[in-house]
Amino acid sequence: MYKLPRGQENGSRVNLVRNAERGRRRGRRFALATGQKIGWTARGVCVALLWLVLWNGPSQAQSPAAAPNATVKSDSLVVYSEMRSTSTVVSSLKKGDPVIVDFEFKTSAEKWCRIKLASQKVGIGFVQCTGLDRKEEQATAQQPATGLGTSRQAVNELPLAPSPPRSTGGYDEIANLVVREGSIDVTKLAELDAASHSGSAAAMRRAALAHYAAGNFELSRNSNDEAIEQYRSALGFAAKQPDLQVASLVRLAYVHLHRSEYSAAVEYLDRARAVAPRSVLVARLSGWAYYGLDRLDEAVEQWNIAQQIEPDPDVAKLLEKAETDKAAESGFRSGQTSHFTLHYEGSATPQLAAEILRALEDDFRSIQSELRFAPQEPVAVVLYTQQNFRDITRAPSWAGAWNDGRIRVPVQGLTSVSDQLSHILKHELTHSFVRQMTQGHCPQWLHEGLAQWMEGRRSDAAAQPLVAAYEHQQNPPLKALEGSWAEFSGPQAGIAYAWSLAAVEFIVANSGMWGVERLLDNLASGAAIEPALGSALQTNYADIERGTVEYLRRTYLK
Ligand SMILES: [Zn+2]
Repeated sequence: MYKLPRGQENGSRVNLVRNAERGRRRGRRFALATGQKIGWTARGVCVALLWLVLWNGPSQAQSPAAAPNATVKSDSLVVYSEMRSTSTVVSSLKKGDPVIVDFEFKTSAEKWCRIKLASQKVGIGFVQCTGLDRKEEQATAQQPATGLGTSRQAVNELPLAPSPPRSTGGYDEIANLVVREGSIDVTKLAELDAASHSGSAAAMRRAALAHYAAGNFELSRNSNDEAIEQYRSALGFAAKQPDLQVASLVRLAYVHLHRSEYSAAVEYLDRARAVAPRSVLVARLSGWAYYGLDRLDEAVEQWNIAQQIEPDPDVAKLLEKAETDKAAESGFRSGQTSHFTLHYEGSATPQLAAEILRALEDDFRSIQSELRFAPQEPVAVVLYTQQNFRDITRAPSWAGAWNDGRIRVPVQGLTSVSDQLSHILKHELTHSFVRQMTQGHCPQWLHEGLAQWMEGRRSDAAAQPLVAAYEHQQNPPLKALEGSWAEFSGPQAGIAYAWSLAAVEFIVANSGMWGVERLLDNLASGAAIEPALGSALQTNYADIERGTVEYLRRTYLK
């Protein structure tokens, strides 16, 4: 997603309605993808004000200044310096004391509130939220976890994971023989392989099941190459076992889909369909593969077949999305280069389309050499009018482009690639690279930080406000920026983008692009971000946040 400069945010009627809806929720909480929720009440206000002046220029009115939004419920409430009850006790509050909660952080076991007093600018510390009576609790408790729906879902995050087809007779028994104590018993596997040389159908089946189980095990620990190898071996033994053949083919397709290798997935799915023409799973995954390949007709056809066999609400949403795209693009022209397919409305000129493709090819080469990775399949790019862009993406008003697997950009009124469009294209293309490199496992702050870094943006203008906000404990923790930002207000997004760029700049300055590459590789192998930071960069969130501020001071504020 590309953050438009303030003043360019879209103000169409559709958006006013959506902004009004968003406004009702604004300043309360952000639902994050991880299920964590963050209160941004006072925080949203003060940081927004700071940012409106220093970063975004003059702005629309925001919520009124912070007033106490909670009172102490328990007889006494200990205030800690950090979100740990083993950290230093900085104060103690008594029942009825009014406080401002400007930040809320939920772990699986506890909920911490960062608080300050009305008279103070700086937060005094953290308390367990259970000790507070929150004025907004009720209003926000019913807020839906996400209003985003599948229109915001990237192609390689589609909810179509096949559950392991274990019903194949004898699976459990063989799986228990081959996978033991957290590893594959290769001796046992070799024994079963050898037994199959007799040519007996039973022995062949056991060998196929053994490799299939080993593949499932490898997949469960994100060892995708090893999983592919095992499923391929399973196929070799399963020639006369249609159930195992289909199961292995579907799993192979699934691994390739996760890597955005759609053509390979289509090959396996075609083979699976030949064996099992009425498999709902094959139809669902085929729709996904075709959508990824930008073959909308076939995607719609396969998802329709899937729905006829066994309706599913997730597939219904995907089908609707593909049909919307298909209808919107029916009158579009298209263009193609080795790495892109481009669709554009008649209002865009073929010259502009050709220029955009040229710019994208240049960007492709440059990002490829930075990240030393290249997407396997052509990236789909769709150019819209402003109104169509808003209607189809349902993007927030501050978003100047959208990437949900397809790069969607409004280009109304443009006759050539402007500076801003050139930034947008490189920014969005970086998202495509990063998503495929990490197989969809990249936290949003890293995604957006890298996309901005690649487009050539640097933190010079933002350094001062970021450092000031950090000193007042007003920057959002990176941890809070892992999930979707789609519900952020313009000012909140402004901070999130700037802080993320600064963090990525610091990481690149400290560890080089090699460090970034290691980090992305760790994420691709299924590691969560914090362990990945530890093993790739020997760091953690607190160090990155501190280091980023030091980096900003040293680089821009001398
Ligand atoms: Zn972005």
